[in-house]
Amino acid sequence: MLKKPCFNLTKHKLEYESVKEFSSSILEVPLSEKSILFFDVSRETEIKPDEPLSVKPNNLLKTGEKFLPFKDKPSKYITSGVTGKISSINKFQSDYGKKYISITVNKEKEEIVCDKFSKKSKEPSLANASEFLQCIPGGISENILSNTEEIKTLFVCGTDNDLFSVANQYIVSSKIEALKKGIEILKNITGINNIILVVNKYLEQTALNAEIKTEVINSEYPSSLPKLIVKELLNIELPPDKSFIDIGVDFISAEAVAAIAQAYNTGKVPVDKLITFVKKDGSKLLAKARIGTPIKNLCAACDTAIDNNDRLIIGGPMTGSAIYTDDYPILNKTDAVIVQAADNISLTSDYPCINCGTCVAACPARLSVNMIVRYLEAGLYEVADDEYDLSACIECGLCSYVCISKIPIFQYIKLGKYELAKIKAKAAEEVDD
Ligand code: SF4
Ligand code: SF4
Repeated sequence: MLKKPCFNLTKHKLEYESVKEFSSSILEVPLSEKSILFFDVSRETEIKPDEPLSVKPNNLLKTGEKFLPFKDKPSKYITSGVTGKISSINKFQSDYGKKYISITVNKEKEEIVCDKFSKKSKEPSLANASEFLQCIPGGISENILSNTEEIKTLFVCGTDNDLFSVANQYIVSSKIEALKKGIEILKNITGINNIILVVNKYLEQTALNAEIKTEVINSEYPSSLPKLIVKELLNIELPPDKSFIDIGVDFISAEAVAAIAQAYNTGKVPVDKLITFVKKDGSKLLAKARIGTPIKNLCAACDTAIDNNDRLIIGGPMTGSAIYTDDYPILNKTDAVIVQAADNISLTSDYPCINCGTCVAACPARLSVNMIVRYLEAGLYEVADDEYDLSACIECGLCSYVCISKIPIFQYIKLGKYELAKIKAKAAEEVDD
């Protein structure tokens, strides 16, 4: 868990990184000998702890092949990024109650690309997208693949969620035709007519030249977070007890839309993820790696050694999470990896809140963060929600970033929301009983 935003950022007005600042060449990370696939079972309440798996060590997987960890649940699958044999399968629990199955695959010498999608790709449909493209780079929501009638507006994010990440901006600036093609395919297979590309100002002309329906949002953090996009472009403030689908809205990244175009164009399931890599000196580059590549291989390809007490962060500096091992893999939604040298890590303190109000002034959700943090520190999650609207937090991390007392407010908030969800689930169960 990241205890504090990193790199001692000094401005309070934070601009998103622009892809213009990056070299136009992308570093290709070589295939690793081992690849690690994660299957998220956090929301699979019906999966019992001792439920048998349908894959075993020594099973051979082809590149782009999908496989079902549980044979009785054919709607959920993982896609292999390499050709190799399964060497081990482990179950583990991550932070905030997330549960995963981790499958390690040893690369074979010869790469064989799975051809099961190839024939079906000639006729794009929601059925074959759902059958093969659940795990594409950038990710695609279950609603887009199954609940399309309820989606009236689909935002394609050509912006990036956290500071430093530029994968989606790169797609708009360098792969605009693939993006356009992907939007056309999405329109045809889902029936969603109102698909809008969201970009920062400097990419507006690129999008308009390609005749893509486009909206511009400002480039100041955190304006590209989904709730703020809805507020700025649709003038809707999403209440905490409503989801985007309740107001007929969903989101997909520009990277995922370009991957859909690539899939139907080549007949192969895309398995390469774009990642912004931030070195210890703060320099940044854009890399491409197979999904499942261990972070240590990405670091090695980027000439970055991991020394004792250095910190590895998955995601951006505002909302990312520190990881404890460089064996952790690149997932289909891993947008950035940050390496911080041990002597450049900004630590939290034991200082109490001095009620300066800086976090309140910074909060885009206009919450009384100074009060929320008091109740969260005391473990009073329901009070923090009932009286101070904890659930309305949009998880931007600005409060932690500005806090003079260096209180890890954002981490308290994430923990508070997790505990609150458990309390509510337990209460709902008791009502059902
Ligand atoms: S993370 Fe902090 S600043 Fe951001 S919305 Fe939540 S309480 Fe407000
Ligand atoms: S910024 Fe930190 S010290 Fe100031 S009111 Fe907020 S929690 Fe308290």
